Amino acid sequence: MLIRLSSLPLHVILAMFVLCLSATGASKTNDPQEERLLSKTELETHLRFLAADELMGRETGTEGNDVAARYIAEQFRNYGLEPAPGSEDFFQSVPMVRTTPPQTQRLALDGRDLKPGEDFILVRGSNIFLSAPVVDADHGMADPGDGSRDLEGKVALVKFGDEKGNNGPQSLSLKRERLTARGAVAVIELYAGHQWQMFVSYLQQPNLGLSSGDKAEESIPHLLVKKNESIREELLASKVSITASESGSEEIRSNNVVGVLEGSDSRLRQEWVALTAHFDHVGASPDLHGATAEDFIFNGARDNGMGTVALLAAAKHLAADPPARSVIFIALTAEEVGLLGSSHYVENPAVPLKQTVFVLNNDGGGYNDTSLVTVLGLDRTTAREDIARGSLKAGLEAFGGEPQIQRFFNQSDNVRFARKGIPAPTFSPGFREFDQEILRFYHRPSDEADELFDFEYLLSFARAYAYSAEFIANNPRRPAWIAGDEYEDTAKSLYGDPADSSSTQD
Ligand SMILES: [Zn+2]
Repeated sequence: MLIRLSSLPLHVILAMFVLCLSATGASKTNDPQEERLLSKTELETHLRFLAADELMGRETGTEGNDVAARYIAEQFRNYGLEPAPGSEDFFQSVPMVRTTPPQTQRLALDGRDLKPGEDFILVRGSNIFLSAPVVDADHGMADPGDGSRDLEGKVALVKFGDEKGNNGPQSLSLKRERLTARGAVAVIELYAGHQWQMFVSYLQQPNLGLSSGDKAEESIPHLLVKKNESIREELLASKVSITASESGSEEIRSNNVVGVLEGSDSRLRQEWVALTAHFDHVGASPDLHGATAEDFIFNGARDNGMGTVALLAAAKHLAADPPARSVIFIALTAEEVGLLGSSHYVENPAVPLKQTVFVLNNDGGGYNDTSLVTVLGLDRTTAREDIARGSLKAGLEAFGGEPQIQRFFNQSDNVRFARKGIPAPTFSPGFREFDQEILRFYHRPSDEADELFDFEYLLSFARAYAYSAEFIANNPRRPAWIAGDEYEDTAKSLYGDPADSSSTQD
């Protein structure tokens, strides 16, 4: 049928034009209803507030962080979400403790004192007073398994990291555990790399941890010693004394913000889709890396103001027309200080983890391609199609990217959920590689809601997230890890094996 446009009223012509555009799938959504629901101005307002100087970088444990949490909670209330079961209002308290390293640290070989910060640094331990001979223990990862106490009363001298080159907190804590089991009284790890100064400044700073966790590790003292030509032999020939004063500790309180929306389908509402985004950032201080005298407020517009705004957009969009599955919205605190908000949540979930069938986390360091969203873990779950479709509806392409991008999968809150077995990709602003354009703003005071920020992109990004979440929450097929994924077995133990009929949900 051919329609002569001139014979139709203008609003009909416009409506047809919109239909044509959306039929191509390549344009932004111009549905007036959605326009009203998620407008550019409203999303811009959220971002300008969350990234404002007055919030001082939303650092965990500061007033700016609390104000951001309150702002998010009141938006949740406005959209009609309910507070999560067991939460006070919309807040889930995350109890933390800030530990200050011992002021005095001493490591002495037979004849001489090494210089703290320059020759050695205490990684862990407090209130230490010991003196013992040193023995070589390779990487310190060996597990004799026969209960042998071959290092009884000795200081274990070990190579840096483990055999595979890992030196993350988990391998370090395993190392301490194994050496403790063998009877060692302390561990000295030799470091030969180029990042000595970085380690020192990190270890000299106060450190945040969950009050509930880590206390358990009553660790033997752990020191890092800078390697030079003779130090290894010197240590092995010595009886060393190690002393350190008491470390300081202070209780810190911060909140996850949690709101729930009941699903519209009487059966599928038993299943929960969790939408998560951290709202904390690194704060404000002239001492922070990248700070200048003129600007030392790390506003975190991109990291993770964008993700928080997208979470608000999804809450408003979904609450207006609840999808089949129930949805829990979790604005997480304390991500930047070690994924603590998510670590606390997965141990204290507001709805059972085994009913939480999917997590779509939203976090990113910035963008350099506004035609995309980059999804870490895009190809690892069956929600791939829904995410691609939701993104396209907002005029964006969902991009999975290369392995060097996918390694970021393990660097945000999603990994805490993934390790429990829940399929949990991270939805991030568009980038093809983590290049100079990203680093210009990444964890810099320049990460602001200013003229360099693309608010048009914020709108499509937030819509892409909301639509993707909607498709996932409405899909009759329950999302899952792709067969063979490293978390597939963990998922089976969380949800039960679908092949096992006794464990299916009603
Ligand atoms: Zn982030």
